[in-house]
Amino acid sequence: MNKINCNIVKDILPLYIDNVISDDTKELVEEHLLNCDECKKELSLLKSNLKRTEVVITEKDDIAFLKKIGLDIRKKRVLTGILSAVISAIVVILSFAYLTAPEYLPYTESFDVITAYENNGSVTLSFTGEYELNQRKQGVYEISLYNTILNKLFDTPQKHIITVNPNGEEVNTIYYVSNGGLEDKVIYGQNPVHNGGVLTLPRLFLNYYIVVATLFAFILTVFLLLFRKKTKIKITITTILFIPLSYIVSHIMITGLNATSYSATRDFYLILLLAIPFYFIFYILYKKKVIND
Ligand SMILES: [Zn+2]
Repeated sequence: MNKINCNIVKDILPLYIDNVISDDTKELVEEHLLNCDECKKELSLLKSNLKRTEVVITEKDDIAFLKKIGLDIRKKRVLTGILSAVISAIVVILSFAYLTAPEYLPYTESFDVITAYENNGSVTLSFTGEYELNQRKQGVYEISLYNTILNKLFDTPQKHIITVNPNGEEVNTIYYVSNGGLEDKVIYGQNPVHNGGVLTLPRLFLNYYIVVATLFAFILTVFLLLFRKKTKIKITITTILFIPLSYIVSHIMITGLNATSYSATRDFYLILLLAIPFYFIFYILYKKKVIND
């Protein structure tokens, strides 16, 4: 009878350890344990085994936990590295933009920097310094000279002799465009405007672009609020939202709040160039935040 009791008790012991038996059964088991060394041994064996598994489980969890922390730290370190590279890129682009920003030279009565002359059907311009030459329309050209801080620093103005019509195109008029509110000056040929002068106005298209970017950012923000509870969509919208935001920030960095520019095309390319590292900055800071969460 005692033997049977032992087998029953041994079957119950795991439940006894987990404390999932009724008080009556518990009492019976404890009573038996008082008088049976074999079952007592079995109990202590079971208990020590249980401890060992517990220890193993905790260690495994610790390793996984440490691995995850290690991975996060490494990820963060890589992100920080990229971040500093991107910030350096921004500094380089902004320095370049500042040092090479055109300061247009206004045409005055004593302006003898530029000469235009005809030579065997081709028209030649001779001048010193940086320039912009455009064809305004058929037979009408315009040129501007400008200085940059970089040129002033190194004082190396380049002498240019350029042919306006290399393929023998018709040249009726060449304007010197002073920009900054001064009238354009005819430096070659006839003034096609008989009563009064021509004024080149600053170009406005950057204004439209900034309005479009702001609108785009606004719409995305509305979507972000609508989907704020759906993590995946939220992350996607946020990464798209960084595109117009980067453009807006770059625009302000390049042209200031005034989008009216005589060198709008140059400004536009600089804004695009600068928007790329700014996008990376927004994206990396966001990624870091997501990792922290
Ligand atoms: Zn027993």
